[in-house]
Amino acid sequence: MKNSNLLSRREFVATTSGLLAAGALEPVGSQAAETDITEAKPASKSPLAIHGGQKTVSKGVPGLGRRWGDPERQQLEEMLQQTTLFYWDGRRTQLVKERFREVCPLKYVHTCSSGTAALHIAVAAAGIGPGDEVITSPVTDPGTVIGILYQQAVPVFADLGRSTYNLDPEDVKRRITAKTKAIIAVHLAGNPCDMDALKKIADEHNLVLIEDCAQAWGAKYRGRPIGTIGHIACFSLQNSKHITCGDGGIVASNDERFGPDLQRFGDKGYDRSRGLGLNVFATNYRMSEPQAAVVAAQLPRLEKIAARRAELGNLLTEKISHIPGILPHQVHPEDRCVYWFYMFRIEPKAFRCSRGEFFKALAAEGVSCASGYIGKPLYGEPVFQNHAFFAGRWPIKEFGLTSMDYTKHRNPEAEAILATSIRVTIHEGMTEEYILDVAKAIEKVARYYAV
Ligand SMILES: *Cc1c(COP(=O)(O)O)cnc(C)c1O
Repeated sequence: MKNSNLLSRREFVATTSGLLAAGALEPVGSQAAETDITEAKPASKSPLAIHGGQKTVSKGVPGLGRRWGDPERQQLEEMLQQTTLFYWDGRRTQLVKERFREVCPLKYVHTCSSGTAALHIAVAAAGIGPGDEVITSPVTDPGTVIGILYQQAVPVFADLGRSTYNLDPEDVKRRITAKTKAIIAVHLAGNPCDMDALKKIADEHNLVLIEDCAQAWGAKYRGRPIGTIGHIACFSLQNSKHITCGDGGIVASNDERFGPDLQRFGDKGYDRSRGLGLNVFATNYRMSEPQAAVVAAQLPRLEKIAARRAELGNLLTEKISHIPGILPHQVHPEDRCVYWFYMFRIEPKAFRCSRGEFFKALAAEGVSCASGYIGKPLYGEPVFQNHAFFAGRWPIKEFGLTSMDYTKHRNPEAEAILATSIRVTIHEGMTEEYILDVAKAIEKVARYYAV
């Protein structure tokens, strides 16, 4: 049962009767042994759970389980033997850097207090300043753009791929102006962006390419570790991310222009290795040794977590791709998406129900899911609509350094994505059996509401 996702369709059909005998799959009608069960149509006969029918996910949503234990305890114990808990030359911080490089082999690695901090350090080290423009995604955590705004620079939102939910390189190109200095590629949900296209654009226009890998721990772009294609990589260690110390971040680079500056832009401008004076202005984004101890113990857990999520997410895609009106999460076949979440879209014209009704019916079937991701694209939020970033004001606009008007800004595909998507929880504690039930539930709801 565990390996059923590895079987070809023909093998799967051939094995179905055996699985049924073993009680691993629900009986789905008399033709079950002859037909691929993903194409059987028993669902339309059974009423939706939301209408009082039987739940598809009968055994409940598998729990995530414990995310920390003995390795963390051991690191914390060793840390308590130390005479200092400060990051600079701290032994846990050194260990984090070594272990990080096994996951993402970059020369300059700096630990910091959050993913937001990592991104702010990256844009500061890239020399982004007042009036500069940074092109990025409107469907992301606010942490992606907070650093841009604090540098008095301008987030310029570009539109997204229909089912990848990542930057559309063509729209990125259209938004380049003389003021553009950087691109922040957000690997949303752990799905790698089209980095070849973005790197080409960055090279042609002399832009810094920053990777927001907050949701993409362990992801791979064409076999290469995420974070190693752009100029600077940013990771979050916040509690909801694949690995965590509660709150934390890492910023890293191989580029001699930016790498040596990461440390001081996260440490009040102090350059602790080169002993330079305070010639840059920066805030305190340091991570202390207790957090680093936990991160050092978390990093060796990553590969298993990433591999498992990739497997489960890909299995769901395989099982829902044939359903009319359902657009699965699109991942390039040579990439590894680590599914911080799984998100599919429904084609509104294919159904008699709204996205909200579809989501409610799916949730009633016992699937852990949510409608959409963030409520609105970032530019639609009041603080952007009011250009009210600094005590209700936006100095660079008042001073004529930007003419950006977020009330006039639109990214139609991003808006459509948020209006038509359903986000399904994927985590490493889940089983193939549960994912197969999720697929069945999606099919059941889709068939019920099909036009
Ligand atoms: C979580 C997240 C961030 C911010 O990380 P924090 O550690 O919460 O500051 C930035 N970008 C993306 C895409 C994220 O998911």
